[in-house]
Parts: sequence; C-alpha cells; structure tokens
Amino acid sequence: MAEVLVYVDHVDGAVRKSTLELLTLARRIGEPVAVALGNGAADTAATLAEHGAVKVLTHEAAEYADYLVVPKVDALQAAVEAVSPAAVLVPSSAEGKEVAARLALRIGSGITTDAVDLEVGDEGPVATQSVFAASFTTKSRVSKGTPVITVKPNSAAVEAAPAAGAVEALAVTFSVQATGTKVTARTPRESTGRPELTEAAIVVSGGRGVNGAENFAIIEALADSLGAAVGASRAAVDAGWYPHTSQIGQTGKSVSPQLYIASGISGAIQHRAGMQTSKTIVAINKDAEAPIFDLVDYGVVGDLFDVVPQLTEEIKTR
Ligand code: FAD
Repeated sequence: MAEVLVYVDHVDGAVRKSTLELLTLARRIGEPVAVALGNGAADTAATLAEHGAVKVLTHEAAEYADYLVVPKVDALQAAVEAVSPAAVLVPSSAEGKEVAARLALRIGSGITTDAVDLEVGDEGPVATQSVFAASFTTKSRVSKGTPVITVKPNSAAVEAAPAAGAVEALAVTFSVQATGTKVTARTPRESTGRPELTEAAIVVSGGRGVNGAENFAIIEALADSLGAAVGASRAAVDAGWYPHTSQIGQTGKSVSPQLYIASGISGAIQHRAGMQTSKTIVAINKDAEAPIFDLVDYGVVGDLFDVVPQLTEEIKTR
C-alpha cells in the first residue's frame, strides 16, 4: 500500500486535533507516515500511532523555532525524497498553507488547498473543495508530481486506529534559504481558555445585532456554557467590538464545527463562505426574512437579548 506523508502540527509534542483528522483521511488513501519537526517531535509518536501512523519521522533542531517556515519545507522535501509518498497532507492553517505551497514548488508538484474531503481515484487521490463562497463543491486531482494537499480543520472525524508508529530519525540538510528570516520575538496571545476557533467543535458567533463590544459578554456566556469558541461577523469586527482574529468569513477564518450558532448575523454571502460547511447551523435573528434562515437547521426568530441568555441558563441546568 502506498505511503502518505502527514505533516504534524504540534506544540512541544502535543499534537493538534487537525493533524489527527489528517490521519483519518490519510488512511483512506494509503498508510500514514507522520513527519514531526522541532521541539518535542519524538513525544508526538504515541498519539500519532494511536491514530494510525505506521511510522513517525522526527527531526529536532533549533532552526524550526528560530526561523520562519523554510526549515520545515527542507525537512518535508527530505521526507518526500525518502518515502516517495502517494500524497503529502498538511493542515490548512496559515503556516501549513505556506509550507505546502513552498513544498509543491520545490518538488515540482501540483497543490490543492483547503480540501474538505479526500477519496481514492483511479489516478491518485481526489480532493473535494468548497469554492466560490461555498456555492459550489469541486473535485480535483493533482496531475503532476506528488500531490500536496492542505485539509481544512474539522473535515474528518478523529478516529482511533492503533498502528506501529515506529519512530525514525529523518535526515535533514538545511538549505541556504532556511536561515533567511529569523524570528525575533514571539508574543503569545492572552488565552481566553476557549478552544481555538478553527478547531472548535462548537462556535457561537455574534454580528451587528449584538450592538456593542460590552454585549459580546452574552455571546461569550453562551459559548462558555457549551465549551465553544467565539466568532464574529465582519460588521462586528469592523465596529471594533471583537478582535479580527475571531472574524469568520471570506476575509476571516473558515470554520466547520459540529454546531454553529449565529446571533444577530444576517447571513451575507461573505459570512457564509466561512461557516456554511458547519454540520448543524442555528441562527437567532429578529428578522424572519434574514438570509441566514435559508441555510439553518434550526432558526429562532427573536431578540437575541431575550433568547441568548435564556438558552445559556437552560444549557447550564443540564
Ligand atoms: P448585518 O448584515 O447588519 O446583520 C445584522 C443582523 O442582526 C440583521 O439580520 C438583524 O436582523 C439582526 N439583528 C439586529 N438586532 C438584533 C437583535 N436584537 N436580535 C436578533 N437579531 C438582531 N462579512 C463577514 O462576516 N465575514 C467576512 O469575512 C466578510 N468579508 C467580506 C469581504 C468583502 C470583499 C466584502 C465586500 C464584504 C465582506 N463581509 C464579510 C461583509 C458582509 O458583506 C456583511 O456586511 C457582514 O457579514 C454583515 O455582518 P452582520 O451580519 O453582522 O451585519
């Protein structure tokens, strides 16, 4: 069976959920071989093996933290040359997409970004994408070289599938460009204690209808009652009510949670582009004609200042 490289997104050995989702998809098209780089790379092996990695290639070096993405591209190129995989899967994070694009150029391959599904085709893996503000679903296949595919978080379930997970050191020689851009400072964002927006199973979002930064407290309270992340429409972000890092949509983040609750959001196409693939969509809006109701599974016509606190209280009692 062909091997499929999976680029591991981890923080000091703690594997992110998006990588475990990649392992589920990788198993559909071959045998997953994980590539873990940087501090704690070897510590990822047990988790990766539990989720189907037959092998874990590791390389720890200060360059991965000290410089921007090129050392990671060098390492992935070395892994591609060592394994000759059927495909390389990378999480669709901002960094993942940059690594993937640079890798595809290096190895002379085609790239597909933001895939939401993968299947085996007669001539190689076929990726499904949701395009044009999620108005169309396309299927595509890389026709040149080793396919490099980035996959959106929440596109597949995390599945336990115990495998060998044999750890092997990857031999990497850094290119001249690897040390071209040095990281001079890292400023961690203050933690809200909530899940990361693109990885959250539940997202609660507020829009212009929330009518003020201070009123986002009721959106946050609902989110906290559900263990959810908080998102915002561009109107709310542009008004300065919520940070841009929480914006969902065409010019913000794309989310695909199990449950998306939109409060005071009209459902403009640019907002839909970032949330339309959510599994279950709930909207609270006082205008029964709001376009968001065209795509919801459950809609509540009502004032969010009445509905959201009641919903929060009800959830807390369960
Ligand atoms: P509105 O459209 O003003 O809707 C507010 C809604 O709240 C209304 O439906 C109203 O009925 C309801 N409401 C008001 N008060 C209450 C209440 N008390 N209780 C319940 N409901 C209430 N938008 C994004 O979100 N993300 C993007 O990434 C994005 N990118 C864009 C890119 C481009 C190039 C352009 C041109 C636009 C983009 N937009 C984006 C903007 C988008 O077109 C909309 O303007 C925006 O999504 C509207 O945000 P909203 O739904 O919060 O506000």
